[in-house]
Amino acid sequence: MSGRLEVDTARLPLLLTELRLPAIGRLWAEMAERSDREGWPAARFLSTIAELEIAERARRRVERHLIDARLPPDKTLDGFDFAHVPMLSRARVAALASGDAWLNRGKNLLLFGPPGSGKTHIAAAIGRTLVENGYRVLFTRTTDLVQRLQTARQDLALEAAITRLDRYDLLVLDDLSYVRKDQAETSVLFELISRRYERRSMLITANQPFGEWNKVFPDPAMTIAAIDRLVHHSDVIEMNVESYRQRAATNRKARSAPKQATPPPEPPIKDPT
Ligand code: ADP
Ligand code: MG
Repeated sequence: MSGRLEVDTARLPLLLTELRLPAIGRLWAEMAERSDREGWPAARFLSTIAELEIAERARRRVERHLIDARLPPDKTLDGFDFAHVPMLSRARVAALASGDAWLNRGKNLLLFGPPGSGKTHIAAAIGRTLVENGYRVLFTRTTDLVQRLQTARQDLALEAAITRLDRYDLLVLDDLSYVRKDQAETSVLFELISRRYERRSMLITANQPFGEWNKVFPDPAMTIAAIDRLVHHSDVIEMNVESYRQRAATNRKARSAPKQATPPPEPPIKDPT
């Protein structure tokens, strides 16, 4: 009889599949060998492979939630040039992207600024980081969401549709000021805002600050009521900077223009020393 206890591992892949432990299924052999080699106590081996499974689950969950969030691709915090938006500090954005302080209290974030000022980019980047930090986010153009909710209302399913959106810690409504009340019945947007009030967060971007919002909602009373709810617990950031694209174009011109436009530089004055 050998001194070692023989273990029948032939059934293990089957058992792990049955238990839905794919990471352990993939890694147990390698980890077991290491554990034997290094003489780990059994408890250490068990907790190590359990941690691996948990980490893998978290990674897959984030992957699923990123797909579900429908964020525009390539808009990341790393790719955002904070120097262009002096009123928006990297530290403030980092705090927002960590989530806890505002999402857990259903607070809102409102971003205003002219076209090209980077609202969509920073909203998407914050959304992406929040998903990576374990939050659920849905990014949508406001007009698309309004349309979806209107369809739901026609099917007498508005309540259910709004309730389904509760699973998102954050709704990013991009370009709210593109919604026009005459194009469609926008009281669905008001319903959404009312239902999420003080419970679930929204990040709203708009070219126009509140003064123009009476073009969005069906009547002035509803506009005031909507703004009131949004602003009550919110951060407002006004990104009053020129268009990033335009500035990039201007910089390109500025770099290439002098070659033809300005006379050749004077020959350097000889330093007598
Ligand atoms: P807005 O939504 O305010 O109209 P966008 O976020 O769509 O502006 O920005 C326009 C383009 O410029 C996008 O391609 C965006 O990625 C880029 N952009 C805007 N601001 C910045 C910035 N501060 N750093 C890097 N890219 C930026
Ligand atoms: Mg935009």
